[in-house]
Amino acid sequence: MQKKNVTRKILRTAALFSALLMILPLLFSCSHEHAFGEWVTDEQKHTRSCTVKKCEETESGEHEFGEPATVKEPGAQTEGLREYKCAVCGYSYTETIPQRLSLTLEEFDEFDTHTALQKKYLSSPVSRVPAGAVGELEQSTQGSPIFTWHLEGLAEGEELTTYTLAISDKEDMSDAKTYKTRFYQYDRNNGFNFYIRRRYYWQVTATVKLADGTEIEEKSKISTFRTLDGPRTLSVDGIANFRDLGGVDADGGQIRQGMIFRCGRLNTNYKKQASVSATGKKTLIELGIKTEIDLRGAINDSGVYQNGFKADGSETMYSWGGDQINYYLFPAIYYDSILNNSDGKKMVKDAFEVLANPESYPIIFHCSIGTDRTGILAFLIEGICGVDYEYMERDYLFSNFANIGSSRDETKFLAVTAAVRNQKGSNYIEKCTAYLLSIGVTRAQIDSVRNILIEKD
Ligand SMILES: [Zn+2]
Ligand SMILES: [Zn+2]
Repeated sequence: MQKKNVTRKILRTAALFSALLMILPLLFSCSHEHAFGEWVTDEQKHTRSCTVKKCEETESGEHEFGEPATVKEPGAQTEGLREYKCAVCGYSYTETIPQRLSLTLEEFDEFDTHTALQKKYLSSPVSRVPAGAVGELEQSTQGSPIFTWHLEGLAEGEELTTYTLAISDKEDMSDAKTYKTRFYQYDRNNGFNFYIRRRYYWQVTATVKLADGTEIEEKSKISTFRTLDGPRTLSVDGIANFRDLGGVDADGGQIRQGMIFRCGRLNTNYKKQASVSATGKKTLIELGIKTEIDLRGAINDSGVYQNGFKADGSETMYSWGGDQINYYLFPAIYYDSILNNSDGKKMVKDAFEVLANPESYPIIFHCSIGTDRTGILAFLIEGICGVDYEYMERDYLFSNFANIGSSRDETKFLAVTAAVRNQKGSNYIEKCTAYLLSIGVTRAQIDSVRNILIEKD
């Protein structure tokens, strides 16, 4: 009974209290219908106030933009315009619509010019040439980046005619080499013969045929990447085992790139038939080769040199690489002890006479497969320039990436270079110099080769 009374009392108090709450606002508010003035706007919101005297009522809110209206459609290469309007206050602003076509690049910062197999060799101990590079396959050429891009925004009736990829070592894209494709990617099986340690720039142009038949060109931005360390491998069609001696650290700087190349023969043994192709000859011209030094020495039963000419000197010697190349034959037959043999010493001495002349450059030198006689001459040139011993050994063994008919190992390198390693000297500049002086190369010739080839820091 008592409990019921308490409940009733609480209910009565609550009803009275809520009635009071409802009356309170009426006591303090205006007793008119608001008459709002014009909206005042800024970029975010709209506000308006009641125009009735003494009334301070305002109304405010964020703009309510719905879907924009297109004022002007974008063209393939022209911007459009769209308008956003607040549904409440009418405030509006416009925004440009980008042109329809967009050509974007998949950018990259660095590129190692070596193939996966070459990289594996270059990053493992020098004594270990990875399986697969055993001198039986031509795998000595440069690896290629896969240049990739995306074209978006083609309208109905528009089509891509061609993409042009331009690559230059200059920021303004001057002297760019160009490559055409209809695909959205481009790479080259045998690489681009990039310099190593060099910055490159690339840009793609899409030629698009519009619906009315006119052709327009859409250009991407210019992107850039840098190539990493050497050895600088190259592809010259029809010549195996082609490498630049340049791009490596040397005494006081580095060896210049594009000056002196080692390679395999330009024609096969005893045959007057070039193995270097028309494309390969074009590359030799692009490389600006002025001199070819041929170290092949064997003579067959008919008295013909390995290079195809008669050993009796009754024929004019010339380069299989083309008329623009001065050809020298300094024949020597290969033995591991070649640096101790008289014809080997003569081969080196004669070669240094040509190497010491600045007019000779750029030079290619080779024997048959560009491995041993070529490797020894490369070793002596790199040696007097102060190239790191391990790099010289690696360069020699790198020939295992070419089709040289068999493989070379560290033991072979040590045997071939013994005559130099046994010289007096605290480093290979001194040892190589001592050897060269001992066979009749002059100090002036050695200095000249160093001056021509070392690019000072
Ligand atoms: Zn009011
Ligand atoms: Zn608004």
